[in-house]
Amino acid sequence: LSTRIQTALSGLRRKGKITQDDVNEATREIRLALLEADVNFKVVKDFVSAVKTRALGQEVMGSLTPGQQIIKIVDEELTKMMGETAVGLNKSPHIPTIIMMVGLQGTGKTTTAGKLANHLMKTEHARPLLIAADIYRPAAVDQLKVIGEQLSVPVYDEGTSATAETIVTNGLQVAEQNKNDYVIIDTAGRLEIDEQLMTELKNVKQIAHPDNILLVIDAMTGQVATQVAEGFDQSLDVTGVVLTKLDGDTRGGAALSIRAVTGKPIIFTGKGEKLTDLDNFYPDRMANRILGMGDMLSLIEKAQSDYDQEQAEKVAMKMRENTFDFNDFIDQMEQVEKMGPMDEIMKMIPGMANNPALANVSIGEKDIAHLKAIVYSMTPAEREDPDLLNPSRRRRIAAGSGRNVQEVNRMIKQFKQSKEMMQKMSKGNFGDMNQLMGG
Ligand code: GDP
Ligand code: MG
Repeated sequence: LSTRIQTALSGLRRKGKITQDDVNEATREIRLALLEADVNFKVVKDFVSAVKTRALGQEVMGSLTPGQQIIKIVDEELTKMMGETAVGLNKSPHIPTIIMMVGLQGTGKTTTAGKLANHLMKTEHARPLLIAADIYRPAAVDQLKVIGEQLSVPVYDEGTSATAETIVTNGLQVAEQNKNDYVIIDTAGRLEIDEQLMTELKNVKQIAHPDNILLVIDAMTGQVATQVAEGFDQSLDVTGVVLTKLDGDTRGGAALSIRAVTGKPIIFTGKGEKLTDLDNFYPDRMANRILGMGDMLSLIEKAQSDYDQEQAEKVAMKMRENTFDFNDFIDQMEQVEKMGPMDEIMKMIPGMANNPALANVSIGEKDIAHLKAIVYSMTPAEREDPDLLNPSRRRRIAAGSGRNVQEVNRMIKQFKQSKEMMQKMSKGNFGDMNQLMGG
């Protein structure tokens, strides 16, 4: 999904002027990409028409950088489609807050019940109780008990002899006695939605009055996921969705359709089998992930307002001609300096925020002064051709600038890295850049 949308947009990115045909072409590609990724047909239609209306409107056509504006619009509309802001769990005013897991068989209910218990303990020092109300397979009860042991979380079960209704009634009493602040009820699933299952789940709902009914959906199930979500929601009025198996080779369309079709927020995502593999869901980050560019958009925005367009074009040209040298490096540094605190800017580049390789490359104003001193100690020939910088020249430069040789080496390495990075950026190759930067 990402690659295809990125391709559609990278054509636009470099254009100075955009015609209606360009917009049609790009939205056509995005439409196909979304359909191919199993996004619901109606959702795609609404999405594309929203993007198109805005793309052909004043905010783009009147702008100096229409390509980037359209990318921004796509990003915003994707975010909107997934619900705009992150949504958390409902909290009960008095303990316990009750969470009921529902969903088809194999989607990850039991695993997610464990992940949630772990998450609540980590983030709130909670004392959850798990209730094993999937009575149709002995293995299901055992699975939850094993998870409980791993986490040192109590699990209430009555094996497979009692009804789910009885187990939940008794389990809630235990939670009250033990003053557990959360109760997480694991329920049975089926391969598809059926009457009997729904009746049982409705009964459990009536007994437990859950604050949260979390529908667990396997992201790999594509179009079906949306239908399932609608089915469960109609019978149980779920409060939120957990989208699991996003680590797999998923086309990701489910994430895009679920909110739009059911109106119910995705609250968590599962990205692995381990009990720590649970994340809050952020619509804007998901949109960025789909577009494959981290916070690139905010960076573009920031750069657009502060960065001298002419200068940018000069650099881009040098990149293409591969003549970017230390003189330009210093110019760049000065431009960047004008944009504000360096570490904030660096964090917006995909993968930078938590890339260990770059963790200790913090650049402050003083560092920029040092970098300048080093460059000024180079001969004009050296400034234009970094390959000349052999060890003896580096020692001379170090002495001349009053910095040490390690610092000179580091700066040359940094120069080469940023040159490589900017070269990729100038080709509009964000996918590669993500990879390069571990994003
Ligand atoms: P349930 O039938 O709905 O209770 O599903 P389970 O919790 O038993 O999970 C079914 C399988 O999916 C198990 O093998 C889990 O380890 C696996 N699983 C659950 N969540 C994830 C996830 O986010 N990523 C991956 N890769 N596997 C998951
Ligand atoms: Mg289960």
